[in-house]
Amino acid sequence: MPRLIFLGPPGSGKGTQATKLAELWNIPKISTGDLLRAEVKAETPLGQQAKSYMDAGDLVPDEILIGMVKDRLEDNSEGWILDGFPRTLPQAQALDELLPQMDQHIEHVINLEVPDEVIVSRLMERKEQQGRSDDGSEAQIRHRLDVYRELTAPLIPYYKSKQCLNQVNGDRPVDHIHHELRSLVNNGSAPH
Ligand code: AMP
Repeated sequence: MPRLIFLGPPGSGKGTQATKLAELWNIPKISTGDLLRAEVKAETPLGQQAKSYMDAGDLVPDEILIGMVKDRLEDNSEGWILDGFPRTLPQAQALDELLPQMDQHIEHVINLEVPDEVIVSRLMERKEQQGRSDDGSEAQIRHRLDVYRELTAPLIPYYKSKQCLNQVNGDRPVDHIHHELRSLVNNGSAPH
């Protein structure tokens, strides 16, 4: 069963694509954003700690995320899709230490590439449709993009050097991207 990581800025379509593949292969999609939103909604101590970071469009501290993901990976050794994790180099390094201990490894890292202007208009639309409190004003959206560029984009060369990165054009219809992802995973396609 596949083990995949989705990179890509907020609004790049990671969640949509991860959901479709997880349903197809009947494996869990582990979305750290969804897990955090559930903690916030349930007003747990972790949720209370995370909320202010999320509302500001900043990243929640690495230790919280690493602990949360570790438990899920242990419970789902058959295969998984990580959506929104890792998002920093320390998170990626923690994952590289954890997986061999569980006799698991990453098969593909998928980076969905979408131009900034497309992201901003998608997120403004999502805010209207879903009312996500962190999809705020255009300024907040641009802040999240800045955070992505500074802290998450360095994962692209990191995974490239490990030969498991696949760059995929995310500015296309959902089904086209889905088909490309299915074939690249099925063929074990050479990363580029
Ligand atoms: P998402 O739904 O993936 O866009 O995540 C929503 C928010 O949750 C992000 O803006 C961060 O505040 C937080 N978050 C989700 N995943 C992570 C992560 N791996 N590391 C740090 N913060 C995260």
